Amino acid sequence: MWKAFGASVTGPSHISKEMPNQDAFICFNENPKMIAIADGHGDIKHKFSDIGAQMAVKAAHEVIQQYLYDGVNASNPAKIKYLLENDIAFEIKNRWKTAVVDDEKLFGCTLLVGFEFSGHLYFMQLGDGKIVVVYENGDVYYPIPEDERYVNNMTSSLSDALAWMEFKVEILPVTDSIKWIGLFSDGVENAYPHNRFDDVFFYLDLARAKVNEDYSIYLSTRLELAASYSKDDTTGVVWTRAFNGDNDGTDWDIDNPTILFTSNPYGWKPLTQVISGSKKYKRIEYAHRMINCYDSNQIGHGNLNPVSIKQIFIDEDSSKIVCIDTIGDFKNLIKIVATIVEGTPMTSSHSDYKSMDSIKKVREKLVELQRMIRLCYSCGVEYTDACPLCGSKTENGPYLEGANGRFELIYDQSIFLHHIMPIIGGYDPVIGEVVQHPKHPSVWGIKNTSGHLWYVNGVKTGPIETGKVIALTGDQIRTIIFELQVSIQIK
Ligand SMILES: [Zn+2]
Repeated sequence: MWKAFGASVTGPSHISKEMPNQDAFICFNENPKMIAIADGHGDIKHKFSDIGAQMAVKAAHEVIQQYLYDGVNASNPAKIKYLLENDIAFEIKNRWKTAVVDDEKLFGCTLLVGFEFSGHLYFMQLGDGKIVVVYENGDVYYPIPEDERYVNNMTSSLSDALAWMEFKVEILPVTDSIKWIGLFSDGVENAYPHNRFDDVFFYLDLARAKVNEDYSIYLSTRLELAASYSKDDTTGVVWTRAFNGDNDGTDWDIDNPTILFTSNPYGWKPLTQVISGSKKYKRIEYAHRMINCYDSNQIGHGNLNPVSIKQIFIDEDSSKIVCIDTIGDFKNLIKIVATIVEGTPMTSSHSDYKSMDSIKKVREKLVELQRMIRLCYSCGVEYTDACPLCGSKTENGPYLEGANGRFELIYDQSIFLHHIMPIIGGYDPVIGEVVQHPKHPSVWGIKNTSGHLWYVNGVKTGPIETGKVIALTGDQIRTIIFELQVSIQIK
């Protein structure tokens, strides 16, 4: 009953610069019933993004076909969502990366996908653009939460190292009340920049239009109008169908439509957004926090469906890791922890995690990983043996040594209790932060966030209250933290 249509218009700014249309789209009515668009980044740094965009929609089509239609015939929507958020997102990125061969950045693009499977609609979105659902009564629904990072031309890209983490996924049961579905590149949104929802009229016009052989032409005309405002390549793919019964959309309150949208619960930030651009040492810290919140029952377990990392959030007010629901069993926790640390979905390659059967073992593993990590300050990359870029092995960074061994100090690191003493029970709070002097960034310090008084005994001596900073000056500093002697070596 639904029919798929797609059209793309080259942006006036691209025509004047003799640049190609860098958007790509696919639309299939059957097997799989799928629509997708990709928007290649316009900057010269991404000069092959038109090819990247074509490869992106192709990769999405192939991978989803293979996993869901040819593969295991899963029908539980929660499990399919889990698969899309993890393995399928990961495989789309890998397939695309393999296809572009060259430097990924040159081919950077966004990707939006919609498909129907087993009575449900599934939407995936990486980067900017908009997914829109219009109901028979004229209500407009945006299923994917707005991403506050995407301003001033900022967007996530399929070329990002951990791009799979940036895919947002939503499900919607197929019902007769759904009239129209559309996927659009940001050329539409940017054509109506005055108000957050100004572009709603654009979608409503398209949703109300008669479904006949002229629909494609109508879609192109509307996209051309939007492109004339935004100057950008402007692309849309839609599914639409005729109205049920007597309804013809004439009673739609076009001037004052009802707009429904989703947002992150309680304004929490998705954990994936925090860790997708992070180095491993920082991701290990989030894994420690995750374990701590689980261990202190701030995150419960018992969910019947597997919960993926994309349901885990961070409450920026308290820095606590939170989940809207409970997570599954202990194995589910281990999968989330492995994903945070390794940056890949739980697969057989994480066999060393699979064997873990207690919180204690997970903590030990994280501490061991943390002890091994070095940062090359010349190249900005992490290593355990030697810097993969310059071959440097010298340990020229400051380090901290206490009763639990030695840890390299890195510039924005959190210091946990386990950095200075072995953890016996489940209590492992953050006790300090490595900070830089606000006016002199080369001067570092450790800020006491422990709630306990520290004593410093180095070039200077004296107490360090909570909220105060020990400046890392002089060769060596000894501090007394929780009655324990800790030494901090600067060079
Ligand atoms: Zn290096």
